[in-house]
Formats: sequence, structure tokens, C-alpha cells
Amino acid sequence: MAEENKDIERVKCLIIGSGPAGYTAAIYAARAALNPVMYAGPEPGGQLTTTTDVDNFPGYPKGIGGPEMMEEFKAQAERFDTDVRFGVATKVNFSGDIKIVEIDNGKKTIEAHTVIISTGASAKWLGLESEQRLREKGGGVSACAVCDGFFYKDLEVAIVGAGDSACEEGSYLAKLCKKVHMLVRRDEMRASKIMQDRVKNMDNIEIHWNTETEEVLGEDQVEGVRVLNNKTGEKKDIPVQGFFLAIGHKPNTDIFKGQIEMDDVGYINPVLGTAKTSAPGVFVGGDAADKHYRQAVTAAGTGCMAALDAEKYLAEKGLA
Ligand code: NDP
Repeated sequence: MAEENKDIERVKCLIIGSGPAGYTAAIYAARAALNPVMYAGPEPGGQLTTTTDVDNFPGYPKGIGGPEMMEEFKAQAERFDTDVRFGVATKVNFSGDIKIVEIDNGKKTIEAHTVIISTGASAKWLGLESEQRLREKGGGVSACAVCDGFFYKDLEVAIVGAGDSACEEGSYLAKLCKKVHMLVRRDEMRASKIMQDRVKNMDNIEIHWNTETEEVLGEDQVEGVRVLNNKTGEKKDIPVQGFFLAIGHKPNTDIFKGQIEMDDVGYINPVLGTAKTSAPGVFVGGDAADKHYRQAVTAAGTGCMAALDAEKYLAEKGLA
């Protein structure tokens, strides 16, 4: 008789990723008796664990630290017996009725009736030592103007990028800040014309064309930015108190390529108005399917949708 492989486990609902989308999906799935198993992924808690204060999540009138908020999400999911585990999903096969997900390069295999993808996206950074040092210290480097702009009310800030996000976030900052320096590496912007016009028409946005960031200045707190004009070779220091990046995000969806439909960049395309992906039984919530809003509260909302859709799918199969 063949020996039972103890590293294979069958579950009703597997959740991959542990940001606001994943934990909200877990809370709903657990309360619907789907006994969810969650693999927390390479960055347990997701992007919010890399921010400082979260002031825009409803229900926290005094604000809350990002890592602390994610601990609260986790505690709430575990209160309803979500099985939260460390581990990274490294390979998937969504072709059959039972979805096969390898964890940690095959150390374990999960067979799931439903999978909820909540792997999120990661902001792109320039990769400068000064940028990462100040970011890790919470010293004024951020990739989310909507999250952190308020801390720079009436101050001067810089934002790097020239896409729609940079224009949207630049104009958001301009409404709060004394002045916004927009650092654009070419002599034109990638953003749509309407978004470009928006920043060009704001009195307190100065666009620095052909400008690259050499260094973010300051020991513990951003004090300025050293820039290089790549046409003239001129270098200068611009005094700012906040340094924002809007140079794009990368959805963490590489392992799902070829298994479900996604756009050129890797954002998953759910069926409009639902959390369903192109693979029956596989659902998505959060930034892995959202290149536009990218907020904790919107991720939580779509995480909830994913769990409700998963529950309905299982009920129709007589499994919930
Ligand atoms: P994009 O990829 O469109 O733009 C990234 C920008 O960052 C580009 O201008 C790029 O410069 C610049 N950049 C990249 N790397 C560097 C670097 N190392 N140094 C300096 N600059 C750099 O990303 P977005 O996040 O802006 O947009 C993503 C998608 O979401 C797009 O499809 C966009 O249209 C959409 N979106 C739509 C919105 C809306 O309609 N309101 C709002 C926000 C996003 P370069 O051009 O030189 O390559």
C-alpha cells in the first residue's frame, strides 16, 4: 500500500499573502466556516509593515502604526481560527478543480478547493543607499503620498516620477504642501495629457526636467535632495523635508503567470464587479489586482469580496 504523503494537505480555502486584503478575506472566510489556511508570504503583514503612521484607515481616530495595525488584523483573523502560517507560495497549478499550490519550493503541497490571491504589489524604489536608510528610519521617504502627505503639511517636498501616479500624487501633495518639486528624468512626461496639465497648472509645483536623484540628504530626517541635470551635468541641492517616489509598482504575481489572466505588467484582471479570476475557484483581493487605488481600506474591501465569492463558489459545489 502506498504510504500517505504527509506533506500534502487538502483545504477548503487557501489564502496567499497577509496584507489587509488577505486578513480581511481570512476573517470573512473563517466566520463562514471555510477553515482558511493563510501563508503569510515573504513580507508578513505586507506593505503596511514598512510604513509608520496610518491615519486614513477608518476606525482609528487617533491613527495607528502600520506594523501595529497589521498585528491587529492578524489577531482578528486568528480569533476566528484562521490558520496563519509562515511560508511562501512558490508554484501553482490552477488547471484542475483542485488547485495545487507548492509552499517553500515544494517542502509542502496544498490542495485547495478555493484560493484567494492577496499577494499585493511592491513599490519601486530608486535603490539609493540614502533613500533606503531614511526610509527604514521613517525619516521622510515614502512611496505613498496619500498615506504620508499629511505629515508634510505646509512643508516642501520632492516627488520622483512622471507617470499618472506621479502627477496624481504630486497634485495631491501640492494641495497640502507649501511647494512640490517634481523630479522628471526625461524632457517629457509619460503621464496622460490631462494629468500633465493638472501639475503644470499648479502654482506651487516646480517641474525639474532631465533631473535625476543622486542622493537624499539628511542623517535621520530628510533635509534635501541632491539632483543632477543629465543634459547640462549641473548638480544642485534642493532643500525639502519629504521625499516621495511614484515610479511605479510591481504586482507580486509572477507565480500566477500562465495560470490566470493578467495585464502586461502582471496586474490580475478580475471579472468586473467581482473578485473572480479567469480560473474558477481562484479569487483575488487587494493590490495584486489594483493599480489605481492601492489603499489599505480598498484592499480590505476587495479581500472581503474574495471571501464572499469563494464561499458562494463552495456552496454551489456543496462544499460550504
Ligand atoms: P508608470 O510606469 O506609468 O510611470 C512610472 C514613471 O516613473 C515614469 O515616468 C518613469 O519615467 C518614472 N521612473 C521609473 N523609474 C524611474 C527612476 N529610476 N528614476 C526616475 N524616474 C523613474 O507608473 P504609474 O504608477 O505612474 O502608473 C501605472 C499605471 O497606472 C499606468 O497605466 C497609469 O496610467 C495608471 N494610473 C492611472 C491613473 C489615473 O488614470 N488617474 C492614476 C495612477 C496610475 P520614464 O517615463 O522616463 O520611463
